[in-house]
Amino acid sequence: MYERRGGYRRDEPREMHTATCSDCGAETQVPFKPTEGRPVYCRECFQKHRPPRNDRRY
Ligand SMILES: [Zn+2]
Repeated sequence: MYERRGGYRRDEPREMHTATCSDCGAETQVPFKPTEGRPVYCRECFQKHRPPRNDRRY
């Protein structure tokens, strides 16, 4: 009996990087490599800084 799960290698955990939130200064883990000069937000601040999808006025 075989069960195939597409493309997920379980022996390779997702690499997490420690970064400091640019907003509140809390230490946070991000699944990508933090780029210098670009703000990194913790989960909470990420929600805050996420632009709302509606309310676009020009
Ligand atoms: Zn934060």
